[in-house]
Amino acid sequence: QSSADLVRDNTTLTPDFPQPGILFRDLSPLFANADAFRQVVEQLAEPFAGRFDLVAGAEARGFVLAAGVAIATGKGALPLRKPGKLPPPVLSESYSLEYGDASLQLTEGLIPPARVLLIDDVLATGGTLAAARRLLERAGHEVVGVAVVIELPELKGRARISDLEAHALLSE
Ligand code: 5GP
Repeated sequence: QSSADLVRDNTTLTPDFPQPGILFRDLSPLFANADAFRQVVEQLAEPFAGRFDLVAGAEARGFVLAAGVAIATGKGALPLRKPGKLPPPVLSESYSLEYGDASLQLTEGLIPPARVLLIDDVLATGGTLAAARRLLERAGHEVVGVAVVIELPELKGRARISDLEAHALLSE
């Protein structure tokens, strides 16, 4: 089974959630399917093999995937937190979502600079990954690329990270 089929068969599509006009994709069935989850984390990492030391993911769905990719590749994980979760000193980056505003934070000076692979479940407008990338670079890391399970190409999120190598298992 192709990775695109695997993703399509193990995600749900819900119209008008959490707001009218948003077609919401949920990856919970994929996380719950042991074979599908393993295949997906391996395929997220594969194009970047040997080029990263840490795997970063944004709270909360990015944590599941980043932890999976880290374990599958023998690397460490770097969680990017929502505001109010980390003690100072923190670096903070704000961005807008399809629905609402958000920020991501990282503790300043805690983790030595590394080559980072950035992971997320869905690339929509690209705001999350662009903010995550700015945050990682301000912390001194090198972002070697981005891997997502689903890209929604009509939202043109790739344009906001156009100078980064980006890889999606399903783009539609
Ligand atoms: P962006 O910042 O690219 O507009 O949105 C991507 C972020 O919002 C990701 O962190 C992703 O988790 C979340 N997101 C946007 N659309 C969806 C969706 O349809 N399903 C899920 N699960 N997350 C979404």
